[in-house]
Amino acid sequence: MGRSRLREASDLGAALDRVRAETDVASRLAADPVGIVHRYGDPADVEIAGLVAASLAFGNVRALRASVERALERLGPRPGRTVRDASFGELDALLEGFVHRTTRGRDLARTLSGAGALVRRHGSVGAALKARFEGELRPALGALVRDVRAACGAPARLRSGTSLPAELLPDPVAGSACKRLLLYLRWMIRPADGVDFGLWDLPARILVIPLDTHVHRIARNLGLTRRRDVSWRTAEEVTASLRRFDPEDPVGYDFALCHMGISRACPSRRDPARCADCGLEPHCVR
Ligand code: SF4
Repeated sequence: MGRSRLREASDLGAALDRVRAETDVASRLAADPVGIVHRYGDPADVEIAGLVAASLAFGNVRALRASVERALERLGPRPGRTVRDASFGELDALLEGFVHRTTRGRDLARTLSGAGALVRRHGSVGAALKARFEGELRPALGALVRDVRAACGAPARLRSGTSLPAELLPDPVAGSACKRLLLYLRWMIRPADGVDFGLWDLPARILVIPLDTHVHRIARNLGLTRRRDVSWRTAEEVTASLRRFDPEDPVGYDFALCHMGISRACPSRRDPARCADCGLEPHCVR
């Protein structure tokens, strides 16, 4: 890389660091599903509340937060214990009638029942992922998804086809960006910083960015990727670009970038008034 490209890259890194440092975490947590997960103190509850919140993290943020609240209320004050001890039938009954967009209570019951089986076998979902990890995240995550599906305990007639709706637990090996799964991993693995929990014994450098439309758009604006599709490959490419600025924690920029989109501080069409206040403006190619 030439000297001017190097300087440009380090300027962008400094600008990203400033945007990250200046994010108002307290107020943004109130508009993020992970804010609900922070109500729990016991790691077993955090892990399961996080799985519920991440699984339902699609659609309008206010509506999805309301859905996460309703689902967690059904699981009682100790969701970790409930999921560890309940059968599929008991979880199915607890979540009967629950709906979030295309997701039904039974879909969530199957996911949680599979997670509960991994908790009984390994001690936690994080330990189950670690047991599958051999240096690369994607195959380990694919194996974890298949383990959850296989262990969900639902009767065979409810396990036909893919056994779980693809949108709830997609297999990363199939190419999906797996935004919600990667969001869950970010929450559980990144060091505790008031947003993420640093709960699982895996290094933050292995993470891949949870790529949604907001982050994808901003990443393209900043030249972190030229790819147009929201796919696993694009998520890896954006993560590789961010790794130049923070090799140990490339996904540490995700919360700030995502909330630039959620809060509409970064509009979907260039807006001279809003862009004038944006710390990334000198690097934005839009
Ligand atoms: S300059 Fe405007 S379009 Fe570019 S990242 Fe900032 S707010 Fe978004």
